[in-house]
Amino acid sequence: MRTHAVYSVLLLLCFLRTTRSIVCFCLGHCPDNQLNGTCTAPAGSHCFSAVEEVLDPETDTLVPERTYGCLPPDETGLMQCKGHLVPHFYPRSISCCSDLDLCNKHLVPIYSPTPEAGEGEVGALDPSVYHVALLVSLTICLVIFILLVTFAYLRYKQREDRIQRYISEAGSPGDNEEFGLPGTSTLSELIEQSSGSGSGLPLLVQRTIAKQIHMLSSVGKGRYGEVWLARWRGERVAVKVFFTTEEASWFRETEIYQTVLMRHDNILGFIAADIKGSGGWTQMLLITDYYDLGSLYDFLQNNVLDHEAAVKLALTAIQGISHLHTEIFGTKGKPAIAHRDIKSKNILVKKDGSSVIADFGLAVRYNSEGNEVDIAPNTRVGTRRYMAPEVLDETLVTSSFESYKCVDMYAYGLVLWEITRRTLTADKVTQCEDYRLPYYDCVPHDPSFDDMYQVVCVKEVRPEIPSRWNSNITLRTLYKVMSECWHQNPNARLTALRVKKSLSRLDSDISTAVMHKPIY
Ligand code: ADP
Ligand code: MG
Repeated sequence: MRTHAVYSVLLLLCFLRTTRSIVCFCLGHCPDNQLNGTCTAPAGSHCFSAVEEVLDPETDTLVPERTYGCLPPDETGLMQCKGHLVPHFYPRSISCCSDLDLCNKHLVPIYSPTPEAGEGEVGALDPSVYHVALLVSLTICLVIFILLVTFAYLRYKQREDRIQRYISEAGSPGDNEEFGLPGTSTLSELIEQSSGSGSGLPLLVQRTIAKQIHMLSSVGKGRYGEVWLARWRGERVAVKVFFTTEEASWFRETEIYQTVLMRHDNILGFIAADIKGSGGWTQMLLITDYYDLGSLYDFLQNNVLDHEAAVKLALTAIQGISHLHTEIFGTKGKPAIAHRDIKSKNILVKKDGSSVIADFGLAVRYNSEGNEVDIAPNTRVGTRRYMAPEVLDETLVTSSFESYKCVDMYAYGLVLWEITRRTLTADKVTQCEDYRLPYYDCVPHDPSFDDMYQVVCVKEVRPEIPSRWNSNITLRTLYKVMSECWHQNPNARLTALRVKKSLSRLDSDISTAVMHKPIY
């Protein structure tokens, strides 16, 4: 019974509390802008006591300022009573009460003062710290900018010096002078005479030839330059004019062609190189033998092949690659060379149906004595469509020169596939496939690394083999060779020497068969 009465009194008090307005102490939030005094909080509302840090202009430090007053009855007001009002630039806090009149006079809200500079969080930093941070960032940006400009200038200077060095080493032919060039010499005579050096014509002779060239028409465009048909003293030559930004490619290709013992029947015949001008404008030329039939890529578009022609193209191409890959020892030895961009567009077709390897802008040389590749070879170079799996997934062992040879062999396998598609099944059978680029049916026109990676590494796809290739010994042998060239594991691929042997055997089998063919 007694408990019942106590509950009833408490309920009554609660009811009175929520229905009665209360008087609060006020300071800084008083009605009619009074300085301090009291205010009346409506029924259901609260008195509050708040503290907030403000900047004292005299001492330039943060000091806590306390204020008191009545909260309006809306929810926002009540929400504010729930403690710290964070986040905020300076700490603030509030406490509320509603049990007695003037109950807020002795309420002390808890707040954490701003930490001293250096010990606080980012959000509580002194504004001057921001200025310092801004200044430091700007300084760093400026230093980086100056470094970049210096680097670009040094590269430009280095390039200029290299060009000037090349020009002064070669000497400068006068306008009408023909240094070392007897008026009647033909190119082959000149090359024959200088073959003792093993590395091409003397530089001054090269520069003289370059001066006397007459350009005729553009015959092809690649990644690094445009190739022209030109005339020198009535002889037809090809002139590759490098794009101005590609001087590294010109230096590399010129260097490779001038490597001792580079000359070979199945390597594009080098005649001369020249670089003119300096500063913003430089013209870089490379003069070589000219081949009417153009690249193997062009040739296969318009021609179908009998077995003899197909094997000749394939065999002579691998003879060129094998010569490149082979290191020749001795005083006038030849370093091993890896091409790194083997593809049908970089193989040219001679009138006699043999092929030559061209475009050495990416090649690397290797001398087993020094055990060193002559330039720092970057891993992802070449034409994406022809990139070997180890190049695409970046597992290529860059420290081993052998890896670069394996990369060439993979690409050669794809070229062999392009040739075999255009090879007729047998005499009097006119069936063969249309010309296509490798992976034409799996990747877009200009495939990305990822397109190629997905196909070649993830799905381990290789070009499709038409069923007719199985019905004939030549086509079957070519298929066997190509599939052993494009093996996923680089170490399991055939070497150039091995392919050369297999194709030589195939070539002589075909020749014997032709000789013994009955004449009707
Ligand atoms: P890039 O380095 O720009 O790729 P290339 O040396 O590969 O240049 O030549 C580009 C194209 O020019 C070749 O695919 C080929 O069609 C044509 N070409 C290059 N050299 C000759 C040449 N000596 N005779 C005939 N055509 C050539
Ligand atoms: Mg090319």
